Amino acid sequence: KAKRGGRMQVAFFEDALERVVKERNWIENELREAIRNGDIVPHFQPVVDLSTRKVLGYEALARWNHRERGSISPAEFIPVAEECGLIMQLSEQMLVKATDVARHWPQHISLSVNVSPVQLRDKGLGRKLLDLLAATGFPPRRLEVEITENALIADLETASDTIRELRAAGVSVALDDFGTGHSSLNHLRACRFDKLKIDRSFVSSLSDNQDSRRIVDAIINLSRSFGVRCTAEGIEQPGELAMLAGWGCQEGQGYLLGRPEEKTSFDFSDVVAAPLRLRA
Ligand code: C2E
Ligand code: MG
Ligand code: MG
Ligand code: MG
Repeated sequence: KAKRGGRMQVAFFEDALERVVKERNWIENELREAIRNGDIVPHFQPVVDLSTRKVLGYEALARWNHRERGSISPAEFIPVAEECGLIMQLSEQMLVKATDVARHWPQHISLSVNVSPVQLRDKGLGRKLLDLLAATGFPPRRLEVEITENALIADLETASDTIRELRAAGVSVALDDFGTGHSSLNHLRACRFDKLKIDRSFVSSLSDNQDSRRIVDAIINLSRSFGVRCTAEGIEQPGELAMLAGWGCQEGQGYLLGRPEEKTSFDFSDVVAAPLRLRA
């Protein structure tokens, strides 16, 4: 009887595994086609100055609306794109499409794009991005590249060369999801950044976690002593905004300030985000 139960369990896991593999293959095939058709498009989330409430720029976030399945999250398809060698092509499309939109914005509004850890292992990445910028005619000074901490681990030297090359050309470099990767502080010694982005997980626990408050306050001070800008991600509550502004965090992003939107036409009379009350 026990033996039969065991066999049934194995069969159950085989079924589950088969489903996972099938789903993974489905995404890979559909993703290939979506990239071929240019179905993956940027949406734009504002980065806002917390003291003046002005929009400083927008982060481009990849969106895939599948004809049958509906919206598929980048958390699902970016890892697949990384695994099957599609990430550079996807990233190129995103950069071209996003700069095509951003070129019509006022000069002082910047554009941020995310770069995958896999791309950062490529010694030629800096050159590729700068060539693409030159081809599109988008000014490097208006572009910011966001790098996640985990990207730096694989090959810190290649990554820091790329960061140096981009910054020398005028592109800003932000360290994304700061605080969640390994050996965060060592990264600050190895590479020069223009901005630290405080991960959403710290921001969303500000109201009920004393340790999160200590960490966020410390990251803001850390960025100040490095002379770099600091952006808090994932601000959803007025209370979070008040705490961050009180600690001197200059910039923020989050549903409270603006969701990612397709924004084919930008109305820059709304350069100042809707006034918000500091307390709920
Ligand atoms: P990220 O770069 O840290 O982007 C922030 C994520 O938080 C976005 O999720 C955004 O929609 C979400 N977000 C922003 N404000 C709030 C908020 O107030 N509350 C909550 N709950 N979420 C908020 P998204 O668009 O699903 O992207 C997830 C991740 O996928 C991104 O994290 C980024 O690492 C990656 N990604 C997205 N687009 C691209 C891309 O074009 N290229 C690459 N390489 N990665 C991308
Ligand atoms: Mg980002
Ligand atoms: Mg982030
Ligand atoms: Mg994040």
